[in-house]
Amino acid sequence: MLEAHTLRKTFARTVALDGVSLKIGAGEIVAITGPSGSGKSTLLHCLAGIIRPDSGEVLFGGERIDTLGETERTDLRRRSFGVVFQFGQLVPELTAAENVALPLLFDRHGRRESLRAARSWLERLDVADCADQRPGELSGGQSQRIAVARALVAGPRVVFADEPTGALDSLAGERVMDELVGMARADGTTLVIVTHDNRVAAYADREIMLRDGAVAAEVTA
Ligand code: ATP
Ligand code: MG
Repeated sequence: MLEAHTLRKTFARTVALDGVSLKIGAGEIVAITGPSGSGKSTLLHCLAGIIRPDSGEVLFGGERIDTLGETERTDLRRRSFGVVFQFGQLVPELTAAENVALPLLFDRHGRRESLRAARSWLERLDVADCADQRPGELSGGQSQRIAVARALVAGPRVVFADEPTGALDSLAGERVMDELVGMARADGTTLVIVTHDNRVAAYADREIMLRDGAVAAEVTA
């Protein structure tokens, strides 16, 4: 359902992706691992249509998405994807519950219903207490769980998560992974997780290891 063919992406003189190809099946849980700077976040952003590769192709459900314009890619993300960014990206002016409700509000759900769904996800991720706080008042770990809740709330076809447990202790990390994987298995959601944590990678059906912007190895569980 998700395919990349020979993706290349360069920033100034840095080659971030140097010919990455992969295929991810519907409902598959894939971990992308590799050393810092190996291109994991860049690859995730290309797959999720956040940035465009310099060359190569990204296909979702058989359709090219890398050639879509900015607006169409944003629409696609809102309709079908949930994204957890490596560095938070919550809206600072909104409360945690409002941040989580955003994907539903964009999808024209009512405010009351959206906030109710948001609060139930905050509860599942053990951050119900934070519902009325703004991102500036939250710890890194709390923000991270709120970002995960926001990625899941609208029931996306694919969830892209960049180090979703990076700011969490092992117990909280396990809770987040149990919710992510539980939801993916229950709904057939495809899950693409960037991580440097072996315990997180152990949840995946397949691990794709990057090195210097290329796939160095693949391990199927
Ligand atoms: P980490 O584990 O530290 O998050 P990563 O594997 O996610 O690393 P990327 O963020 O994809 O690595 O970066 C790959 C390379 O591209 C790095 O050398 C990085 O410095 C460079 N890079 C990434 N994004 C940008 C950008 N917006 N501008 C300039 N260089 C960038
Ligand atoms: Mg990264």
